[in-house]
Amino acid sequence: MTPHSQPYDLLIIGGGINGAGIAADAAGRGLKTILCEQGDLASATSSSSSKLIHGGLRYLEQYEFRLVHESLAEREVLLRKAPHIIKPLRFCLPHERHLRPAWMLRVGLFLYDHLSKRVTLPASKSILFNTNSPLVNNITKGFEYSDAWVEDARLVVLNAMDAHNRGATILPRTRCIEAKRQGDLWQVTLQDQISKEVTTISSRALVNAAGPWVNRVFDKALHEAAPNNIRQIRGSHIIVPRIHDQPQAYILQNTDGRIVFVIPFEHDFSLIGTTDVEHKTSLDHISISDDEKQYLITVVNKYFQQKIDKADIITSYSGVRPLLDDDADNPQAITRDYTLELDHSNNQPPLLSIYGGKITTYRKLAEAAVNKLSPFFNEEGKTITQSWTADTPLPGGDFDSKELLSQKLTSEYPWLPDSLNQRLVTNYGTLCYKILGNAKSIQDLGPLIGSDLYEKEVGYLFNNEWAQTAEDILWRRSKLGLRFSKNEIRSLEQLFNTLNS
Ligand SMILES: Cc1cc2nc3c(=O)[nH]c(=O)nc-3n(C[C@H](O)[C@H](O)[C@H](O)COP(=O)(O)OP(=O)(O)OC[C@H]3O[C@@H](n4cnc5c(N)ncnc54)[C@H](O)[C@@H]3O)c2cc1C
Repeated sequence: MTPHSQPYDLLIIGGGINGAGIAADAAGRGLKTILCEQGDLASATSSSSSKLIHGGLRYLEQYEFRLVHESLAEREVLLRKAPHIIKPLRFCLPHERHLRPAWMLRVGLFLYDHLSKRVTLPASKSILFNTNSPLVNNITKGFEYSDAWVEDARLVVLNAMDAHNRGATILPRTRCIEAKRQGDLWQVTLQDQISKEVTTISSRALVNAAGPWVNRVFDKALHEAAPNNIRQIRGSHIIVPRIHDQPQAYILQNTDGRIVFVIPFEHDFSLIGTTDVEHKTSLDHISISDDEKQYLITVVNKYFQQKIDKADIITSYSGVRPLLDDDADNPQAITRDYTLELDHSNNQPPLLSIYGGKITTYRKLAEAAVNKLSPFFNEEGKTITQSWTADTPLPGGDFDSKELLSQKLTSEYPWLPDSLNQRLVTNYGTLCYKILGNAKSIQDLGPLIGSDLYEKEVGYLFNNEWAQTAEDILWRRSKLGLRFSKNEIRSLEQLFNTLNS
């Protein structure tokens, strides 16, 4: 870690979607910004989501109109901003008369279609399930509506890259262990989690975007009482071999009032989730319980002809939602909206703490966070520019259509296998040129490590996207972990040993 003599404007604790989004927004508005993340970028909640950019049809039942309105509008903004990693997705909602009446679903979908302006996403409609339906025979009617799908961990990394390109310092694997006010500045102690080296950084303002750890930062680093209580609500997903061929996702109603998504995943798989259970143990060990697995399997088997059991589970993941405690009895009823807590009592250097939030609303949250802090910088003679993120693509998102980009790659790199062409376009957009460069044949991409991952791509991820371990690549920069054998994982680990030495 290099010493930083001049104070930063903003130090952000947490490299999930909220921290990375704030870093990008702030750096783009001219603030000298630094972000520390104790693990890999997106190593916590922001890679454990259902990966939907959605208004949240279910939140209408909780009267969360502000959140739904903002989220619906963000779908179109984010589809433009990151067309490589975000795509439209249609959802089928089977109608079960005894769960929610058809009139209620129609009203909900009408609101969903009209609460915010849709530009590209088609409207909802009633549907009939015919003999080709993957659902059990007694389900004949339903509805279809639009939302969007995102590669959540890549959204975090692309925001961190955007921040970095605009001058921010990004420090993964660096924990904030202490932060105290001294005069006009924060003095923040950071520890490199690999070398254990400790550095102190000064900053004019501090952002606590530690997600589920937000109150732990208050307790252990700030040594002060947190302004809000949070409820830690775990949500888990299972991944099984694909259980239906349609491109749509399914949203299944359960008898407990909850819903479960079945989403096409990485071509050959189905992603099934999520659950809502109070997480009472350590945040260092967040994993699915047997009951959660059974819960998801039972819901799916009630609806789908193709039955699944625990033996079909290829892998699973879990995350903890850090939800603001609003005294709701039931975990699913707790608000999913976000709150920004600003503390600058007695004209002390400001601390902004982020509570709650969705991947979908990260950009608006970041905009609101920097707006809230900008008066402090304006007072100090800096002029904070207007928000800019709505119309600027994320790195690699500067292209018109994936089809055209893919055709361009085919003509420029005719030897590139189709599946690799598709994966590079979807993962990297125009950043794929940094991997392909002036390669003239597949051999120019270096040795094959496993699946369709060549050494050149690993080098790119190591040098440009902060990947430092096999897991960073297999589960966050990509989902190739689904396709790698144990030997291939070992080869990738060995390559990292060489790169890191
Ligand atoms: C099961 C589940 C499904 C979800 N599905 C969706 C969905 O489909 N769509 C949607 O929009 N939203 C969804 N969400 C919500 C969304 O995932 C979260 O709101 C979002 O990821 C929170 O991001 P964050 O940056 O606040 O937290 P995190 O991603 O958890 O980031 C906080 C980071 O802070 C770091 N940190 C903590 N303490 C320190 C420290 N002392 N020093 C340095 N770093 C530290 C942590 O390592 C962590 O990486 C879902 C959430 C869950 C749990």
